[in-house]
Amino acid sequence: MNSYNIAVLAGDGIGPEVMEQALRVLDAAEKKFGFTTVRTACWVGGAGIDHCGRALPAETLVACEAAQAILFGSVGGPKWDTLPPAERPERGALLPLRKHFELYANLRPGICLPELTAASPLKASIVGQGFDILCVRELTGGMYFGEPKFYGEREGEVVALDTLVYKRREVERIAHVAFRAAAARSGRLCSVDKANVLSSSVMWREVFTEIAAQYPQVQLSHLYVDNAAMQLVRNPAQFDVLVTENTFGDILTDEMAVICGSMGMLPSASLGARSSEGFFGLYEPSGGSAPDIAGQGIANPIAQILSMAMMLRYSCAQPAAAEAVEAAVRRAIAAGYRTADLATGAPGEIRVGTAGMGDAVLAAL
Ligand code: NAD
Repeated sequence: MNSYNIAVLAGDGIGPEVMEQALRVLDAAEKKFGFTTVRTACWVGGAGIDHCGRALPAETLVACEAAQAILFGSVGGPKWDTLPPAERPERGALLPLRKHFELYANLRPGICLPELTAASPLKASIVGQGFDILCVRELTGGMYFGEPKFYGEREGEVVALDTLVYKRREVERIAHVAFRAAAARSGRLCSVDKANVLSSSVMWREVFTEIAAQYPQVQLSHLYVDNAAMQLVRNPAQFDVLVTENTFGDILTDEMAVICGSMGMLPSASLGARSSEGFFGLYEPSGGSAPDIAGQGIANPIAQILSMAMMLRYSCAQPAAAEAVEAAVRRAIAAGYRTADLATGAPGEIRVGTAGMGDAVLAAL
């Protein structure tokens, strides 16, 4: 029987609550599809600081190194906001994990299901029957990591400097991830850059155009990032797979999350090295630890459940199990189950809490 080692890092706020539901669904998927997981639960984020003195304790990193995938909840909260920025849960845990495991490919589905279009802030005439976009964001290059960085005085003036730098091979490897993702979907890939202004974008566009020849089944188009931001709110359904560099991706994926309706629905995968089994990856909801609703049992667990499904697809070579979990989520929504973030008061809605939504997905599975 196939068995997979998973590090489970639930974290803070709603993290442990939604993780519990994702693991219940994982138990059921294992039984149904005949595989097992060996799970190592570790402290991270604020919980890591409280229990081990660091947002990313050494033992947590060791467990992650021994695993094929990291199932991550969320980190952070007001309790740790007064710490120096570099020691806070988000900076102290997530960025080092991304860097340590070179998780360069961030996959973020932006799905607005037809039943949930009323939760989107877009007009009904624009959101239509919903949409299903996949954004591929380069995650370890560009301005967030580029050197030099500087903030201080130079030649009598206060100067702040960040460096936007990409190596060609960094663009090539994210391009292959994006082309493969597009080939597995509708075959349409839109690359987003700012090639009219930035040298890094000129190289980005050249590399994508060259690599396109290796994927004749994929139709490649290009958009400037300002236009892409506008097109997302004008007509999101025109997109299938979007691919972009780190900073643009940070902004566009948040825009995408908002137009989908709720943070509680959106999973993500951050992929690194690839072996014969699949990618090493970190899988987490797109939202944060939601301290405003933590501990109340009302958080939507779907983003965490769908993140687990992405883990089954990309790190555990269990695509059928991943599809079954995703279909179960769609069926639970179609049957009317709604956590508070999704509820609109429409007839037929069944209001549930975190565990109730977990039950609904399990029943559908
Ligand atoms: P957030 O995503 O935690 O919350 C934004 C809003 O979305 C809140 O109203 C929250 O209740 C709601 N929301 C988010 N997830 C939800 C869910 N599953 N179900 C229902 N509603 C949900 O963002 P924030 O409030 O800006 O940040 C809160 C904390 O989380 C901060 O400490 C922040 O730094 C941290 N954070 C962590 C991550 C991460 O762990 N990857 C990401 C973003 C923010």
